[in-house]
Amino acid sequence: MNILAINPWIYDFAAYDFWLKPYGFLVILTYLKNKGVNVDYIDCLDEKITKADFGRGKYPSQIIDKPPIFKHITRFFKRYGISIDKLKSSLKKTKYDYILITSSMTYWYPAISDLITLLKAQYPNSKIVLGGTYATLCYDHAKKNIDCDYIFKTTSLKDFFKLLDIDFDNLKFYSTLPSYDDFYNNLDYVVFRASWGCPFNCSYCAIKKLSNGFFRIFHKPIVEFIKKHYQNGITNYILYDDAFLYKPAYAKQLLTEIRDLNLNIHFHTPNALHLKFLNKDISSLLKDTGFINPHFGLETLNASLQKQWGNKVNNSDLKKGINLLKKGGFKNGEFSVYLLLGYPNQNLDDLKKEAYNLHSLGAKISLAEFSPVPKTKLFQQYKDKFSDPLMHNNSIFGSFQQKKIKDFWEIKNYVRALNKILSTRNILR
Ligand code: SF4
Repeated sequence: MNILAINPWIYDFAAYDFWLKPYGFLVILTYLKNKGVNVDYIDCLDEKITKADFGRGKYPSQIIDKPPIFKHITRFFKRYGISIDKLKSSLKKTKYDYILITSSMTYWYPAISDLITLLKAQYPNSKIVLGGTYATLCYDHAKKNIDCDYIFKTTSLKDFFKLLDIDFDNLKFYSTLPSYDDFYNNLDYVVFRASWGCPFNCSYCAIKKLSNGFFRIFHKPIVEFIKKHYQNGITNYILYDDAFLYKPAYAKQLLTEIRDLNLNIHFHTPNALHLKFLNKDISSLLKDTGFINPHFGLETLNASLQKQWGNKVNNSDLKKGINLLKKGGFKNGEFSVYLLLGYPNQNLDDLKKEAYNLHSLGAKISLAEFSPVPKTKLFQQYKDKFSDPLMHNNSIFGSFQQKKIKDFWEIKNYVRALNKILSTRNILR
């Protein structure tokens, strides 16, 4: 069987490679390869025009027409990733049985439509299959608007493999780590997961709708994965886990094994770690194994919202956690905490105070701009207004709260200034 697999472009007002790799898609493709399927892969985001620290960088981009819904927004709308010519020149003359396309953010779906138009012209007889986050969270929208043959939710893997007539072994599948060497010529970092899913259920997060429960991978394949990529020169490892520290004995054992390899590597945690599961050993291990600016989920210091939104952390976890980080060797400004900006009825003066409190505790603040994610509790009040997924875009969500835009910028600048103080202190130290 011949398969062409494509990670589409991003269509947006802004995009940056903050360690973006289509992780679940790469696991599927690796699983298929292991079953003897011939897979050709194109990642439309596999190009950068700048190289920043730890493997991040800017994508190339081309200005494109704005969807009519965005006409009032005075910013350029762009296609991020490789040019159309480059994509066309990467397409082989192979007769593909299936073309697999993944999807990520719900509001990037116009890129998928354009991609499919282009592929249909080149491969009129191949069956096109769409999966991924948009396909899962906006299944009905995709059915109506995306011209493909099959759409699968991330929770319907069994049906997907049945279509391809490939055995699906749940345990084997979720234990698979991507074979990057089969799919990428150059890598600035590798992404991996030690677990899938999350046992929590926060009101703003759709993880429960995207995963089939919580599953952990044995230590050994992860340690081997890191060793193998280190030998190939990779020093940046991006942990995509959503609950890495949950039941911390697992993380303690894995981190101890990694520490004992004595490698000069860095770990990054864009999906955040849980403050409440920190302990003395874990904090020291995070430091000793090379976690750089580990990010922790908090979202708000408002105790009643913490409870209402799922109780994943509270303010005493926060204080205790920060103390433990310091005992583990992290200095002020060497760790970050996420705060949510722009959620419904948020008091921005309170947010400013929260930012200052966190700063006083030595934490850098990462503002996560709220946008309503379909299938979450917080989405309910928007579901009729935002029938087009373009409206889920966090870059423009704020622009629908016109009166607040100035305040949003003010708080972003305020937080930037606080973080700079901590960074400067570290440089002077
Ligand atoms: S802890 Fe994180 S990943 Fe888990 S439900 Fe909450 S926000 Fe989502």
